[in-house]
Amino acid sequence: MIPKQKAFFLRVTGLVQGVGFRPFVYRISQQHGLSGWVRNTNECVEIFVQGAEQSLERFFHDLESHPPPAARVRDILRFPEALKNETGFIITRSENQSDRITEISPDIAVCEECLQDMQHQTNRVHYPFINCTHCGPRFTIINDLPYDRKNTSMKPFPMCDSCRKEYENVNDRRFHAQPVACSVCGPHYSFITKNDRIESVDAIMDRLAGLLLNGGIVAIKGLGGYHLACDATNEAAVGNLRLLKNREGKPLAVMFPDPATIRKYAEISEAEEKSLLSWKRPIVLLESNNKNHLASGVNVGLNLTGAMLPYLPFHYLLFDKLKIPAIVLTSGNISDEPILIDDAEAIRTFLDTTDGLLVYNRKIENRTDDSVVRIMSDAERVFRRSRGMTPSPVTLPFSTEGILATGAELVNTFCIGKGSQAILSQHIGDLQNTETTSYYEETLGKFQRLFRMKPERVVSDLHPDYFTSRFAARQEGLEHFKVQHHHAHIASCMAEHGLDEHVIGVAMDGTGYGTDGNIWGAEFLYCDLADFERFSHFEYMPLPGGDRGIEEPWRMAVSYLFSVYGDEMKDLDLPFVKGLDKDKLSFILNMISSGTNSPLVSSAGRLFDAVAALLGLCGVATFPAEAPMRLESIVMEKVTEQYPFILQDDISFEPMIRAIVEDLASEIDPGIIAAKFHNSVISVIFEVVKKMKVQYHCNKVVLSGGTFQNKYLLEGVERLLERTGFEVSSHRIIPANDGGIALGQIAIAAKRKALSCV
Ligand code: ZN
Ligand code: ZN
Ligand code: FE
Repeated sequence: MIPKQKAFFLRVTGLVQGVGFRPFVYRISQQHGLSGWVRNTNECVEIFVQGAEQSLERFFHDLESHPPPAARVRDILRFPEALKNETGFIITRSENQSDRITEISPDIAVCEECLQDMQHQTNRVHYPFINCTHCGPRFTIINDLPYDRKNTSMKPFPMCDSCRKEYENVNDRRFHAQPVACSVCGPHYSFITKNDRIESVDAIMDRLAGLLLNGGIVAIKGLGGYHLACDATNEAAVGNLRLLKNREGKPLAVMFPDPATIRKYAEISEAEEKSLLSWKRPIVLLESNNKNHLASGVNVGLNLTGAMLPYLPFHYLLFDKLKIPAIVLTSGNISDEPILIDDAEAIRTFLDTTDGLLVYNRKIENRTDDSVVRIMSDAERVFRRSRGMTPSPVTLPFSTEGILATGAELVNTFCIGKGSQAILSQHIGDLQNTETTSYYEETLGKFQRLFRMKPERVVSDLHPDYFTSRFAARQEGLEHFKVQHHHAHIASCMAEHGLDEHVIGVAMDGTGYGTDGNIWGAEFLYCDLADFERFSHFEYMPLPGGDRGIEEPWRMAVSYLFSVYGDEMKDLDLPFVKGLDKDKLSFILNMISSGTNSPLVSSAGRLFDAVAALLGLCGVATFPAEAPMRLESIVMEKVTEQYPFILQDDISFEPMIRAIVEDLASEIDPGIIAAKFHNSVISVIFEVVKKMKVQYHCNKVVLSGGTFQNKYLLEGVERLLERTGFEVSSHRIIPANDGGIALGQIAIAAKRKALSCV
């Protein structure tokens, strides 16, 4: 008996182009003896497939259960069709009809098979630009759509005959791999020093390995920009690199050859190993194991190390030759400027100051930094979203079309709306120098062109002095509206989880402009995407010196002590107080009492600053969030006690400050004080959320704001709330810090537009 025949038409949406999806469909249709065709359109992959009912079921199963590793299928729509006269299965030509573009893949770490090929394949032995449909550069080389070689920086490299054969062979792993290349036809590395230039890959690797072993510093052109590298175990080399970067305090990222080597220095959980090995290859923040040590300048006394594994073929070639276990691999920039991508500029900047530059002759079209994640509650949380993640969109349940969200001032990203997608830019940085603001404007231009997006309305933060607010105001002819910073934080987390309802929003943060003109940053909001109500917040405190007060946590400690003890704070028998410069102290106290340049802040970040300073951990910060990070890093686990606090309309920590001062006077271990402090903040959040539940009959809690990058805090709050029956959402793929603000802004704007209430 002939089995029953059926036919279907399918539309597959998501990240399904440039990742080997059509050859995959071709292969599984062959395996199951089906006929039909597959093609790319601008919006999706379309498939027509027919054959025996049982074979079709197996085909659908394969389609859903093991798509190519870098694909991200959002939806498969299936429509029954009439049987046609199809024989065999073909890949048909791309249909490019409209401005409704499909997704662009982020860059993908080199795959196992390519690494094998790099050992023996003719034309590709030690060829570091090897790639296939499963791996290689994507976003960093694209300058227009559709994703074809002519629209990438591979354009100047015509394929040789042998590469073309692979490119055109549907059974080959390089079928339609746009950046396909070999040593005959593709780009090449060169190593440049003041005295010479080396072109042979093997000679380059020998030279690099030698320089790094001997304490040298080299600049390396990576996937999304230049890196600076040195031996991570060499104190002097790390010190020199810091001097070169002009970067006092920030921890430096480190690349290790494999997980086994990382384990010598840091603990790795299963989830952490999975993140380290994922094709995104982010920097993963790991806790040091105190067995072996990298140079102390790497993580500046913090117990966290930013570790990553090789992701470029070149990294593997280098580690084959290296005799050191780890290299610092940090962005090649000076101070807070954007990572360099231009070869001439890199040579100008680094030729005289380093031991040489590793360059290659393919242009970087889109700058990306290494992404940063941390595992909390066994889940990956993105802190910095860039290489391997951008430009994957977030899909919202309503239209975002034509909306441009300009983002926040620090760790900025912007977001553009296309269809129902919110496309977040890569990490841009702190918009506080002209290099970074130019980078912002340039990237925005690129996104508008790449995604065929013409803004009709623009959203900014409420803060009048942000670069992004002024930028938004300058956009003529566009409707401009403003969103409160912490509402945007909560909305970003809601958007990430597809929530569109009323929630209890807890924003634990540093700084954001409030609707009352004060600085907010520890906010309990009852909100939906359209609007919010401020239920409670930490008690306002003066921040003496404004921004100076953020850079110098000791000022905030003085502010808290003054609020509790008045002028008598000067006589407290505490190492912190005794260590203060008397003149500076009087100056600050005058500022506070006269209200000069002392804006009122309700801020979790500043409370953490104050306590860290009181404990002598960080009087002056050398990088953002240093004080809270140092405080978290000394927390003694298993301490369950906490300090008292007062819940009124706002939340007073007066009794806690008194208790901390007493503990300090009794010389209680700072690790215990830090734990009790964290437990108190967890408890405050729990108590306020319980009150809100009673008032609003709401059970859904959304956590956002940079302070939730604190692992002890986030895990503690989540555990407590979940154990008592709350549904809790926290950030995974979008940063809890200001890098997520643009997504929140666009979600709020889109929702208000949908409600037509703007
Ligand atoms: Zn590959
Ligand atoms: Zn070739
Ligand atoms: Fe914020």
